[in-house]
Amino acid sequence: MVGNGFRVHNFFPGGYNMDKRRMSPFFLLDYVAKMDFSPSESPRGVGAHPHKGFETVTISYHGSVAHEDSAGGKGVIREGDIQWMTAGSGLLHKEYHEQGYSKTGGPFQMVQLWVNLPAKDKLTPPKYQSITHDSLGRYAIPGHEGADTGIGTVEVIAGDFRGAKGPASTFTPMEVYNIRLRAGANFSFDLPADYNTGLLAIEGNTLINGSDQLSVDHFALFLNGGETITIGAEEDAILLLLSGEPINEPIAAYGPFLMNTHEQLAEAMSEFSQGKYGRLED
Ligand code: MN
Repeated sequence: MVGNGFRVHNFFPGGYNMDKRRMSPFFLLDYVAKMDFSPSESPRGVGAHPHKGFETVTISYHGSVAHEDSAGGKGVIREGDIQWMTAGSGLLHKEYHEQGYSKTGGPFQMVQLWVNLPAKDKLTPPKYQSITHDSLGRYAIPGHEGADTGIGTVEVIAGDFRGAKGPASTFTPMEVYNIRLRAGANFSFDLPADYNTGLLAIEGNTLINGSDQLSVDHFALFLNGGETITIGAEEDAILLLLSGEPINEPIAAYGPFLMNTHEQLAEAMSEFSQGKYGRLED
């Protein structure tokens, strides 16, 4: 559990004995698989904590989270919405179940991604992008020739898929999509060969490249061989695709700080203990 509100599976950098840079620029993937929360009068969550040197991206599939940070960013991430927060030079942050959702309880499913920043942008001022589900780029995947219905949709959060542009602004090139497929769909696409690419199965079991089973709530890591990726949906499916140009720079990570050197980590800890990241009540 992270706080008392988020039962997370951490897929990387720890999972699969993965090198910290194997999914760069994505540093960490926390996933809350679908679960049910009982109604609660006091919202569950995580109180004020610092971040520096990267971005947190929160994607809600079910349930609502209220966010607040010491740089003035504030909002609710509702079902289908995304929040892209740049911690950059440092801030305090808290995340709780939104009051209304907390009172009714119900299904909860969420992803939080940590996206690294290149050295030249680590001290960029904090920024908050609130991205609603309506504002995502959309590419309708056509069915076979002559069919009058499509086989799914690519919702583009960041990057560009066949002309559909994602609303998120990023510091390095990356593609972040929700791929929604109908049962029986077979969908192929290519990504740049030098990008690190992975797929998280949010809903539905799929078959990858004709032979590898990807079960719901599991993560698939791709080779960097420029292969064509083919997803066969055995049932209605939603997959989160992460693909990005690696940041080939040293990594020094400690808790909520992601820097390039140990000296910079020590500096971040000292800034935090001196209250330089502002104030935020729990
Ligand atoms: Mn946080």
